[in-house]
Amino acid sequence: MDELKYGTKNKRGDFTPNDRLEGAPVFIWPPRPLKFLSWLPSYFLPWNVLFFAMGAVLWFYATPSKETLAALHWQWMAYILGRNALIVFVLYGALEMRLYKQRAQGNRFKFNGLFPADRKSDVFMFGSQNIDNIIRSFGTGVPIWTAYEIVMLHLWAIGWGPWATFADHPWALVILGLLVPVIHETHFFCIHWLIHQGPLYKWVHSVHHNSVNPSPWSSLSMHPVEHLLYWSDVLIHLILPSHPLLVMYHLQVTGTGAVVGHIGFDKIETGKDSAFGTHAYAHYLHHKYFEVNYSDGLMPFDRWFGTWHDGTKDGDALMQARFEKKKARLNAKAENTPN
Ligand SMILES: [Zn+2]
Ligand SMILES: [Zn+2]
Repeated sequence: MDELKYGTKNKRGDFTPNDRLEGAPVFIWPPRPLKFLSWLPSYFLPWNVLFFAMGAVLWFYATPSKETLAALHWQWMAYILGRNALIVFVLYGALEMRLYKQRAQGNRFKFNGLFPADRKSDVFMFGSQNIDNIIRSFGTGVPIWTAYEIVMLHLWAIGWGPWATFADHPWALVILGLLVPVIHETHFFCIHWLIHQGPLYKWVHSVHHNSVNPSPWSSLSMHPVEHLLYWSDVLIHLILPSHPLLVMYHLQVTGTGAVVGHIGFDKIETGKDSAFGTHAYAHYLHHKYFEVNYSDGLMPFDRWFGTWHDGTKDGDALMQARFEKKKARLNAKAENTPN
């Protein structure tokens, strides 16, 4: 597929899409209903429909019965750990295999022209981004995700929390289901901004940012404290009336969904002349520039706080001006501090 119809390539082979990254046309004034309608399908496709389908399959076909969940036995907990590890292994592994190992589309549509495996770096365990990422994802990522899942399912089974049924409260549950990605991104913006501050960045979040050129395995490669914060968005189902089907969907949006921002390619080719957009660019820019795009633009926080980078030269200029200002502020502070 001809990537140059959709973007430009620099000398290093880095791809930049032509289209400016736009936030969701929801929190804008004046409202633009037509724009909203043309944006709406991208709220569902391709990712949220996939994550809902995965959550539903897991809930209906691969989650133990209520009686089993009511008693904390290690067998079913180990089963859930195994099945979550399998999901990550199969889905992330498939993307990694096709795009990074077989390099099925070369570096067409790849934001960073280089492949992480071609570079050794001592910030990673065993000098390998992949090995380091895999150890962190399966060592603490999937187990902490599973711990949240076990707690939520167990509390539902013993009737602890404001659980509802689709028969009694269909609309409340449908609305909550529709808002899951919104809840996830709002929570993610808050914890993500928090762990970019001072010592929290150094001790916790820098682990994730070691992968400056991320690949699917980088998605859940985080410090365990970040894992704990990252999945805590699912606790909302202990506050609002909810149903375990929505918990399973939410865990897919947060857990499996982490891969979206780390695919590293703007489009995945599905045939000679066909491809689908990944929605990965906003978070790729975050890995490249650190202090921009704390969320992916579904919620307007980055725009409100001036940290949105839309991927264009204008976006770059705005970011540089902000960095200069910050530098000046820090210098002034250092000069005013008595020795
Ligand atoms: Zn990331
Ligand atoms: Zn970050």
